[in-house]
Amino acid sequence: MTSGWAPAHFRQDGTVAQRPIRLFGDPVLRTPCDAVGTFDEALISLAADLEETVAAPGRAGLAANQIGVSRRVFAYYVDGQVGHLVNPVIEAVEGEQEDEEGCLSIPELWYPLRRARYARARGVDRLGQPVVVEGEGLLARCIQHEMDHLHGRLFIDRLSGSVRKQAMRDLRERYLSFGGALARPALLVC
Ligand code: ZN
Repeated sequence: MTSGWAPAHFRQDGTVAQRPIRLFGDPVLRTPCDAVGTFDEALISLAADLEETVAAPGRAGLAANQIGVSRRVFAYYVDGQVGHLVNPVIEAVEGEQEDEEGCLSIPELWYPLRRARYARARGVDRLGQPVVVEGEGLLARCIQHEMDHLHGRLFIDRLSGSVRKQAMRDLRERYLSFGGALARPALLVC
């Protein structure tokens, strides 16, 4: 699944931190992330925090802007494997899969979404070493979902037809029931 991989699960000082997830309506989720140019202690901490935050039951992937950092880094947690990718680019996709998809930034809402069955992403790790992450099924879906995040896109942007209408209805209800804490109405326009 991976090559040249060394988990960043712990920082040099041995500490890690679970970070709060930014929710739908936060502008950072709509801002394309900047490429990482400096491989420093801050990046090591970011990679560790992403891995620590994603490695929990029910979580599969996490992009840096979901914890408020607009940098091109994401972490994944699939089949018990945790890792991260810095400055990723999708190198290849193949086939199709249709399954339910959700997002930590849009809690508890899941919709069917067609994605490529296989995806391969290339980037580097926190130390700048080349890394390839590739897989099918959930890992492929995760790679595509997180790449969208890094471009400032959300999976609900890819919905169409009646599924999209239902999603917009659900989000509007969420907005009303959360009193505006989760979303702003202007963002619900298709
Ligand atoms: Zn997401």
